[in-house]
Amino acid sequence: MTRQDLANAIYPDVKITLEQIFEKYPPRALPNGAEVTRFAPSPTGNFHIGGLFSALIDFSLAKSSNGIFILRNEDTDKKREVPGALEAIFDMLVRFNMKPDEYQKTGENPVGKYGPYIQSQRLDIYHAFAKKLVAEGKAFPCFCKKTEGKEEILKAREERFSEDDSNVEYDPCRNMSIEEAVRRVKEGEKFAIRLKTPNDGSTKTVFEDLVKGRVELPANAKDVILVKNDGIPPYAFAHAIDDTLMGTTTVVRGEEWFTSTPAHLDIFDALGFKHMRYYHTPNICKIDEENGGKRKLSKRKDKESGISFFFEQGYPTDALIEYLLNLISSSFEPWRAKNPETPYQDFKFGLDSITAVSPLFDMAKLNDISKNVIAKMSAQQLFESWLTWAKEFDEPLAKKT
Ligand code: GLU
Repeated sequence: MTRQDLANAIYPDVKITLEQIFEKYPPRALPNGAEVTRFAPSPTGNFHIGGLFSALIDFSLAKSSNGIFILRNEDTDKKREVPGALEAIFDMLVRFNMKPDEYQKTGENPVGKYGPYIQSQRLDIYHAFAKKLVAEGKAFPCFCKKTEGKEEILKAREERFSEDDSNVEYDPCRNMSIEEAVRRVKEGEKFAIRLKTPNDGSTKTVFEDLVKGRVELPANAKDVILVKNDGIPPYAFAHAIDDTLMGTTTVVRGEEWFTSTPAHLDIFDALGFKHMRYYHTPNICKIDEENGGKRKLSKRKDKESGISFFFEQGYPTDALIEYLLNLISSSFEPWRAKNPETPYQDFKFGLDSITAVSPLFDMAKLNDISKNVIAKMSAQQLFESWLTWAKEFDEPLAKKT
């Protein structure tokens, strides 16, 4: 029996070939230097200021380079999904004048040629790539039950690496014979697909981060999960496949993904994909009122962490965008001083001035910018935006006009 037999037993229904997939997602014909970026939220319902911050970077990178801005719905965690969240995110982007070039609404066809843009509609693609990795011996089925598996892994690790504190976690199923694996698959046992990490805990992974520059982190040495036992891929596998097929040039994503980048890049390597550039956006912080220290804006404690707060308070969307541009790019403020009348859309967003440190959210500064934005509105614009606000937040007041 060969590994191809195992791959066939695991994925008897995968009909689409990798050639057909690559044909469907040809390299994009774009001008030199054009950035393809994507905002890829999970539809969990609360639109955080950090999300707007990331989306604005994606949008600005794409627009300043005549590129493409994609909205991708990362709905693989069905337990956390909130109905309508995707549409709310889309509407929010439109409200902030950042309509994506490519996107897909629930129940509708994709807008753009590189879809579907909803991950739960891409399972056949993920499975085709998982099948290839199993056939090549780069991935294997893991039959461990959730908790049992963890214990077995830890035990195996202890036996092998009792002397050091390396981050090695080889899964016990990695060396199972093909015959046993095929038999268990055919008997209907549940299994996940794991990457057979080629690393042994002694090496480093090097990658490019837009602001941090050349980064060196300990290489991943865990047999990470590529496809869960319900057939759904966790973030890492879907990220490698989607961003490659969609032609993403720069991945803008939260700082929390930084340390798992080596594992992601191992997946790119196993698949034979080119690495892409990352920009891990620093967390937006505030000064803690109690201890005076800097801390991350918290969804739970800080009302200003949610976008809806600014709408309720009546901040103009342009003011919020101008404020965030200030946080993102050190060139924005001098540009604004020189060009007080120019719309912010004309600001040329350069990567050299992008922020590397966690910015502090400063309400006084936002108020100051809002004051300037409002002062520049014509009487008609001001009335209209006031009326829009009142209709949403103060119905009786709106009715008086
Ligand atoms: N769904 C991931 C998140 O919301 C996306 C991260 C990314 O942009 O790659 O954190």
